Amino acid sequence: MSELSPVVPSSDGTTRPPGALSVGLDVGGTKVLGVLLGPEGNVLATLRIPTRYGPEGVVASAVEAVRGLAEPAGVDPTELSGVGIGVPGLVDPATGSVVHAVNLGIEGKPFALAAQVSAELGGVAVSVDNDLNVAALGAAHAAPPSASGDLAFLALGTGMAAGIVLAGELRRGVSGAAGEIGHVPVDPAGPECPCGQRGCLETFVSGTALSARWPSREGRPAPAELFDAAAAGVPEAVQIKHEFVTAVASAVRLLVLTYDVDRVVLGGGVSALGVPLLDGVREALARQADGSPFIASLAIADRVALCPPDVPVAAVGAALAGRKEVS
Ligand SMILES: [Zn+2]
Repeated sequence: MSELSPVVPSSDGTTRPPGALSVGLDVGGTKVLGVLLGPEGNVLATLRIPTRYGPEGVVASAVEAVRGLAEPAGVDPTELSGVGIGVPGLVDPATGSVVHAVNLGIEGKPFALAAQVSAELGGVAVSVDNDLNVAALGAAHAAPPSASGDLAFLALGTGMAAGIVLAGELRRGVSGAAGEIGHVPVDPAGPECPCGQRGCLETFVSGTALSARWPSREGRPAPAELFDAAAAGVPEAVQIKHEFVTAVASAVRLLVLTYDVDRVVLGGGVSALGVPLLDGVREALARQADGSPFIASLAIADRVALCPPDVPVAAVGAALAGRKEVS
């Protein structure tokens, strides 16, 4: 939590413009993770509170989180340069409305989340975006600088999708579908996908797909149990892990061939596997490059990285998006 001195004036006697601070919120189905972001994009304080359900509950949770971050720093919410909110669902970033977010209890008709939160906080600028999009922005911010500023954030969770940042800017596409590679069909005879197609990449690459093939037996996350069993040499686990990392590598290759990004960051719940996942994916990418001078020349394995586990990328990205809203 906060270890801050009041921001105006700061402890070293200088005065920082409060407008340089912004708040970002990653609003999930069970918790709100918030950050107070400083002028250089550094995290000054973090906060975690439970999410209350339904439209009014989400507004109340967001308002509580913003106050809980700003006020200990001596900043009135109206002095922030902006507030950004990431939500798991379909949003209209232009209006700040949430169209559909089942996990938050918002469905049926669009809900003006940004306007409501702004009104509760004295009119501070509020932006709302999809949590994957803000996570991509946060991952780009947390990653080492690159010349291009191009990055794909590949979220391996319940589903699978990528957020695309090109030249430092989020690329949504004309209908918000840029990066939805989870629904690229790769096997016409494959399993039915909730999207209505067959054999989508997501049916092989997501955490859901993995735990369907190797259900948790010890109460730990299924991916961790699978990778441990594979490391212990259990033949079935070795095979399933092999197929999984190969499918993740195919998703990475697809992103590089589509966008030619110089970094692909692995995020989402499955990325908690850490280095064993990264190593497996890199080995699979090396296998895929075997025999193809073209693929080998792209050095795709060198472009893959893990999302830093200690950076709340979605909240940081939301704070950056909120700040941009008023710049
Ligand atoms: Zn699909």
